[in-house]
Amino acid sequence: MKNYSVLHIWELCQIYGSLSKQEKRDFYQHKCYYYQFFVKMIIVLSCIVSTTYLIADYKLNGNTIMPTLFPRLFVLVPLFFYIILEAKARNYQIKVFLNYLMLNLIVFTMVWAVYHLEVKTHFSEAAAIMNFIFLICCLSSSPLSGILGYSIFFLEVFCSHQVNHYENMDVILALNIPCFVTIMLAHCLLDLGELDHYLTSKKLEQALITDPLTTTYNRHKLSRMIQDNKIINEQMPISLIMLDIDYFKKINDTLGHYVGDQALRYLGEFLMRELSEIGTVIRFGGEEFMIILFGYSSKKALEKAEYLRKRIQSADDSPVSFTISVGVAEYNGNFKESMNAADAALYHAKESGRNQVYLDCEFTY
Ligand code: GH3
Ligand code: MG
Ligand code: MG
Repeated sequence: MKNYSVLHIWELCQIYGSLSKQEKRDFYQHKCYYYQFFVKMIIVLSCIVSTTYLIADYKLNGNTIMPTLFPRLFVLVPLFFYIILEAKARNYQIKVFLNYLMLNLIVFTMVWAVYHLEVKTHFSEAAAIMNFIFLICCLSSSPLSGILGYSIFFLEVFCSHQVNHYENMDVILALNIPCFVTIMLAHCLLDLGELDHYLTSKKLEQALITDPLTTTYNRHKLSRMIQDNKIINEQMPISLIMLDIDYFKKINDTLGHYVGDQALRYLGEFLMRELSEIGTVIRFGGEEFMIILFGYSSKKALEKAEYLRKRIQSADDSPVSFTISVGVAEYNGNFKESMNAADAALYHAKESGRNQVYLDCEFTY
């Protein structure tokens, strides 16, 4: 459990300020996808509940609901379109826009109903109640969207004043301006708290898929890539490389596990330096790595693998001299089959004397 303090809030402000545009976009996208369902449900609920203001209208208009019946029920029409469009929208910014639009349409039907009321002074309370929904909308949006949403709200209040001639416009503003300021400040504070959770969960996520010794990815990353369908060779070829240190047990047995670890770390960092731009490096087992090369045919991957083998063989900055055996296979659409093919090629490289690169189909380089 974290004990937040004002100092912590200040640190979060600085972190927020240091985020790039893209990072901020990623953060708000995450925030929207996390909370949007709840925000949508609350907006739907608010629309439905706003129709029950008919009861208050009944009292205010002298025991008749007829004048405000249509505007009060009309809110269900935009609600219907909101539900459909929100479900169709893929972009989080569109979802946020629809939330604020719907919110302001509730205000619009409210203003319309007030037009038909004999006593219009109670609009001040009705408008103030809308601030609750503005607060809920903060959960899935950025403060800037909140300010834009509020601008339309105040515009609606001012425009409707031209028609409804509220006798207590000063009270309406005196109630709503402090609410606006408080909610925008609350919006900023809630964003900072959410940012803290977001960054922590990103760090945990990264730790979950990273091998702590070699800094390459681990098998969790591979499972996730398969699960998310990230390995698809529709537009470009993909190749798999399986790579294993030769006689690694001997290094451990003669020089100790610490040196063995150093060699593993050296290899991991070397592979990341060489390949992180063009593929994914995964520590597959103890001293075995899998590399997924995107945009690489088997021929290109074979050349790359041979380059890696030679570089490792001749490395002069390695904590201990070692060689690697490599198996290469082009991805055929079936991950298990391709992985077995690369593994078979690696096995062949070992069988043929080690420190070699083999392609699955021909078993020769
Ligand atoms: P080959 O050429 O056939 O691959 O022989 P090898 O000795 O490299 O293969 P083997 O599978 O017999 O041994 C792998 C060794 O790697 C056994 C295990 O103790 C060691 N190992 C696995 N993970 C780690 C690690 O994280 N650190 C260290 N230092 N050793 C590890
Ligand atoms: Mg080995
Ligand atoms: Mg091995």
